[in-house]
Amino acid sequence: MKAIAVFPRKPMSAHLIDLPKPGVDEVPGGRGVLVKVLRVGLDGTDKEIDAGEYGVAPPGQDYLVMGHESLGIVEEAGPAVVEFAPGDYVTSMVRKPGGSIYDAIGLPDMTTDDVYYEHGISRVDGFMREYYVSTPEYLIKVPRALKTVGVLLEPISVIEKGILQAFKIQRRLGVWHPKRAAVLGAGTIGLLATLALRIRGMQVVTFGLEEPPYLNSDLATAIGAKYETTRRRSLTQVSEQEGPFELIFGASGYSPLLFEAMRVLAKNGVLIASSVTGGRREVTVPTDEINLGFVLGNKVLVGTVNASREDFEAAVHDMAFSEAEYPGWLARFFTRKVDGLYSCPQEIRLLDNKPGSIKTFVEVAPLP
Ligand code: BGC
Ligand code: ZN
Repeated sequence: MKAIAVFPRKPMSAHLIDLPKPGVDEVPGGRGVLVKVLRVGLDGTDKEIDAGEYGVAPPGQDYLVMGHESLGIVEEAGPAVVEFAPGDYVTSMVRKPGGSIYDAIGLPDMTTDDVYYEHGISRVDGFMREYYVSTPEYLIKVPRALKTVGVLLEPISVIEKGILQAFKIQRRLGVWHPKRAAVLGAGTIGLLATLALRIRGMQVVTFGLEEPPYLNSDLATAIGAKYETTRRRSLTQVSEQEGPFELIFGASGYSPLLFEAMRVLAKNGVLIASSVTGGRREVTVPTDEINLGFVLGNKVLVGTVNASREDFEAAVHDMAFSEAEYPGWLARFFTRKVDGLYSCPQEIRLLDNKPGSIKTFVEVAPLP
């Protein structure tokens, strides 16, 4: 079978390879599930991996099969599998457990280990291939009615984790019903965070760099959020003019904005940091003022990465809600469809943040 692999840390090394087709008996105890890959989404992480800036090969292997956003269909289930049957649409969780206590209790996304295991990213092969074998513990059932947008489940799970973490932390307050939320960034993650917050009934302002109107600002306003370009009004100005935000979801990739958010966050508010920033940017920040605001305002800053099963399940819920409330909205994310694995290497290099380009996905096999 065909797959796309890189030699981690070697720039522009994505290439097509041939691997043997896996079988369910590779998993002991009859718990193997053979999944035929239908679609794989691409994101900035894939671009960084191909650029040689990120990514680790599995032990004993010099290559890493790429791809972590997947939609597949179960082709065969081992005799001891009761959770899935052939014909079920599925996605796979991305992280595998390491050695910490959090890994042991089913929260590898909360690992305290220095190394982590992520399909298509770190030490475990990914899903840019025709088939993979997994076990029910790592698979999430995608309702049939969501199959055309199911490849978005993984990025949605990442924002669900951030939001669920915020609500878990805020149980400290007894009553926390945030009404005003800001989302920093209007890319895939920013827009999906906008959706999840709108679904939870919040007034949302989504901040992007570009002047509206363009696809991303249209998507934000289509679900009742307000779009603001930071070129016209900064987060600080909007907060001062319209009132502070009780929840801020940071997904802009521009780390200085996070410190601006720390400054303007409402009392008892939560700021969620989700951007993976690989650079070494340094800026001057008003530390006394930020610290004082955090102390006197009982504010929270929480970092978030990856997602647990609970977050994937919340993602299924929100996707279904979205399709019911805003039919066709999620499908507008797909601004580029790549036919087959063959041209993936070029497509990964073409990924950009140009206004109006949101999600590229690879159709590995047509949806049945
Ligand atoms: C993935 C996450 C992963 C993170 C860090 C993101 O692109 O979607 O699942 O945890 O990268 O590697
Ligand atoms: Zn990703």
